[in-house]
Amino acid sequence: MSEYVKDLMAELKAKHPAQPEFHQAVQEVAESLSLVLERHPEYRSAKILERIIEPERVIIFRVPWVDDQGEIHINIGYRIEMNSAIGPYKGGLRFHPSVNLGILKFLAFEQVFKNSLTSLPMGGGKGGSDFDPKGKSDLKIMRFCQAFMSELFRHIGPDTDVPAGDIGVGGREIGYLFGQYKKLRNEFTGVLTGKGLNWGGSLIRPEATGYGAVYFAAEMLSTKKQTLEEKICLVSGSGNVAQYTVEKLIQLGAKPVTLSDSNGYIYDEEGINKEKLNFIMELKNVRRGRIKEYVDKYKKAIYKDFDPYLDHNPLWDHKAHCAFPSATQNEINWIDAQNLIKNGVYVVSEGANMPTTIEGVNIFLENKILYGPGKAANAGGVSVSGLEMAQNSQRLPWTREEVDARLQLIMKNIHRTCVDMAERFGTPGNYVNGANIGGFLKVADAMIDQGVV
Ligand code: NAP
Repeated sequence: MSEYVKDLMAELKAKHPAQPEFHQAVQEVAESLSLVLERHPEYRSAKILERIIEPERVIIFRVPWVDDQGEIHINIGYRIEMNSAIGPYKGGLRFHPSVNLGILKFLAFEQVFKNSLTSLPMGGGKGGSDFDPKGKSDLKIMRFCQAFMSELFRHIGPDTDVPAGDIGVGGREIGYLFGQYKKLRNEFTGVLTGKGLNWGGSLIRPEATGYGAVYFAAEMLSTKKQTLEEKICLVSGSGNVAQYTVEKLIQLGAKPVTLSDSNGYIYDEEGINKEKLNFIMELKNVRRGRIKEYVDKYKKAIYKDFDPYLDHNPLWDHKAHCAFPSATQNEINWIDAQNLIKNGVYVVSEGANMPTTIEGVNIFLENKILYGPGKAANAGGVSVSGLEMAQNSQRLPWTREEVDARLQLIMKNIHRTCVDMAERFGTPGNYVNGANIGGFLKVADAMIDQGVV
């Protein structure tokens, strides 16, 4: 670690203690950027990185709501408006009991670089609440979403800040949030993305993150003149990103064999095919059940409960070629990374945000596998959100084929940027450096152009 990064990290930790995920995200980026800052002292003297790690604005608010039994609940709402140098703030909302300021700052920070990589004009933001939607009735979810938007609406807008979904926020929640925004503002605008198709949403938006992560893996494999056909793939999670990762893998002839939720995971050696995926989609999106139920229907598959005392995640300990972590942050530690390598995995494409710890990332890099970090590999979701904003501004919907073609092109370009930047700064094949540097340069130059604001 360079002296500059050491000092930066020490100051960050002193200023913002108890935000370990944010420290982790900044450290990874700062280490890549030391390569740039050595060659371009103008970024250092303009204190660009010091400015980027401080959000432009943080909004924290009370969300009081009354449930269907008349009981009052109080949650905390957040919106981190991280950086608007290249466009309005853009990034998802996460509803999960683990949500806190540090986690949202790490996500907003990652979003700045990711959005820049897409080449679309979007700044970075993120938000959410410690509200837990799991197991709650539609009525409770609606009441919470309305209460949340009753404060958030004053801070967002189609040219200011455009939130989307993330963990715990899917089509249902975006609908309730949009309805309340429209009522309060009395205007029908593209203020959220991930909207329903009948009211301003884009085709392919639900699929985009998962499809994009698979397209990115295919691009990485193409550098070795290989394809995804017949590759055995480990996928974690069973939400939006995991489902469409599996769908695209099946379409491209690969064999996904695992899925999980926060209780445990399933391993189906025969592979998850289209029919089995339809069962999972109904289970997760309609019945809102647990992944365990998969083995009641498909008896040859096995299910294991997660053991909180285990020092690794057994999902990553199966023979495979590729891994698509698609659940949450830090789900691959150094032991998992070693297990993946030991089991033959040589492609990791991150659908989730920061699913690998720094020690795990270092193991991937030392072993020189094809490792696509989240801010590049999962940028497909926000890319199609950007395309949804473009369609809303035009008031014209595009066809499925057109959106998918643009998504594929964007993922190809992001891959190319990562490869080129990694090479230009002396670390060929290192997609972490490539993504961090590629995302940084555009934002840094815009910040210099716009002065100290
Ligand atoms: P989602 O639909 O809510 O699904 C999340 C999945 O991960 C669920 O299966 C959930 O299981 C599991 N999970 C969540 N927290 C977990 C934990 N602490 N331990 C184990 N499993 C956990 O969310 P999503 O949209 O697919 O998001 C998944 C990841 O992709 C997140 O890292 C998100 O930031 C990232 N991402 C999403 C998008 C997007 O467009 N949606 C774009 C870019 C990146 P339970 O149901 O049991 O909680």
